[in-house]
Amino acid sequence: MRQGSVAVIGAGAAGLAAARELLREGHKVTVLEQNSRLGGVWVFDERVEKDDLLGQNSKRGKVHSSMYRHLRTNLPRELMGFSDFPFIPELLGSRSVDARRFCSHTEVLNYLEAFADYFKVKDCIRFNNTVLNVRQLFTSTDRTGTSNNIMPWQRWVVTSECEGSDIGVTESHMITEEYDAVVICNGHNSEPSLPDIKGMDMFTGFQMHSHNYRDPEQFKGQVVLVVGAANSGEDISREVASVASQVHVCARSWKQLGLSEAELIAPYGPRRNIHRHPDPIEITQEGNVVFSDGSHLDGELHTIIYCTGFQYKFPFLFEREELSHSSGLQHATEALTIGHSSPYPVVTVKEQRVDPLWLHIFPPSSAPGMSFLGLTRKTVPFPQLELQAKLVARALSGRIMLPRPEVMKEEIMAFYEQLKEDNVPTKYTHMQVGQAQWDYNNKLAALCGEDVPETPSWRMKMAEATGLIKTRHAESYRDVPNLGAESENVCMLQEARTE
Ligand code: FAD
Repeated sequence: MRQGSVAVIGAGAAGLAAARELLREGHKVTVLEQNSRLGGVWVFDERVEKDDLLGQNSKRGKVHSSMYRHLRTNLPRELMGFSDFPFIPELLGSRSVDARRFCSHTEVLNYLEAFADYFKVKDCIRFNNTVLNVRQLFTSTDRTGTSNNIMPWQRWVVTSECEGSDIGVTESHMITEEYDAVVICNGHNSEPSLPDIKGMDMFTGFQMHSHNYRDPEQFKGQVVLVVGAANSGEDISREVASVASQVHVCARSWKQLGLSEAELIAPYGPRRNIHRHPDPIEITQEGNVVFSDGSHLDGELHTIIYCTGFQYKFPFLFEREELSHSSGLQHATEALTIGHSSPYPVVTVKEQRVDPLWLHIFPPSSAPGMSFLGLTRKTVPFPQLELQAKLVARALSGRIMLPRPEVMKEEIMAFYEQLKEDNVPTKYTHMQVGQAQWDYNNKLAALCGEDVPETPSWRMKMAEATGLIKTRHAESYRDVPNLGAESENVCMLQEARTE
């Protein structure tokens, strides 16, 4: 077994899962977290970004969390829990503040805190520590004889900005350190992704991304357009409709609701002031909207809220000129190890594809020394993160062998070919709908070894039942004591919970 020093970037659910599995394998773990507490997106933050460019201005003063005040989970808590640390109020004890199945964000945060305490992950976290740069270092010396390095020919230089008194200093300063491996867990629900709608930049009303939405009050009496009707669009349009005069929600398709034409055009919600539309294709300066079916919304539109998802960003993987000039990073690097660092980023991000990544985790040429956790979308994140973390920790310790880089590359190309054949756009590369996430999870489990079981059937059934109930009863699925035709599913949820 090889045991190395591993930097984990981020102390959200992914970073915590990674740290726990790495510790289990005996690695020396340092979690570098920019925030002053753990939990990532689950740390509700009152602050919002002051930003006219809807998240496209890199100097806007970043706020990480995208949580809104009244958010309740969109998955039942039983499903969200890690495999050996169930997310049930009984386990949280006095830390449980909301025992509901679809609970508040605070309950999730408390769960992650409890997880970190129980598995002694907290001791490895360095808070107020923002990673600015990660570089791969190739050394010419074979170090196997002198140390227990994971990848004798490559090391990682991590430069971070550290604030506070955590390490005995009060001012912010740069630290440059070497690690055997880096696990990237910086989250992908924080950087707004925007649609390209003709005229959107000319609109003189107020525009924002859901990332900056906290409360509905500011939209009182307004006419609001909500672009996107997935989880956030669905929640936010209903919250806003409780105070706005009208809310117009747009989606590429409403087919999945199974409604008749008449039902689709009928306003809905407790105040009957929410209206469904197809995608907007043009917004005029005066606030008129043209939709993809040629219909119009003419009148005074006050606000547009883009609930259009997020993009992948890894700013620390790309050269930052000001950093190498101002911090003497180059000198620090040379002083640490005799070697040269790669001038190329390990991955690129184009059209929402992080490329190349084997199993959405490993860049072939740097595996297992560099890995990415939590990039998939439309999944049940926590248990999948656990499996990804196990695979990374075990690959680093040598307990399992990964395929050679050429084989990984071939498999990635075959995966891309398959997406093409299935007409899946590049931007959905990391999306796993339906059975795909279970197949993927089971593949990870099989790679990890015999002691890691496949996803139990109750999780799959519960996810399916939740999806069904949510589609049909978006307004009430979180409180389904009995839903007539769905009662069978509800019973199944209960059974799964007690299993
Ligand atoms: P994050 O939680 O984003 O954590 C990333 C961490 O990395 C953060 O702490 C951040 O501060 C840190 N970081 C980033 N960059 C740096 C850096 N350069 N240096 C140091 N630290 C850095 N999932 C569910 O299971 N159920 C739900 O109901 C659900 N609802 C959601 C609702 C919303 C509005 C959102 C946005 C997400 C929701 N999710 C839900 C998905 C959620 O994102 C995942 O469950 C999971 O928490 C993601 O964890 P993560 O660790 O990958 O990312």
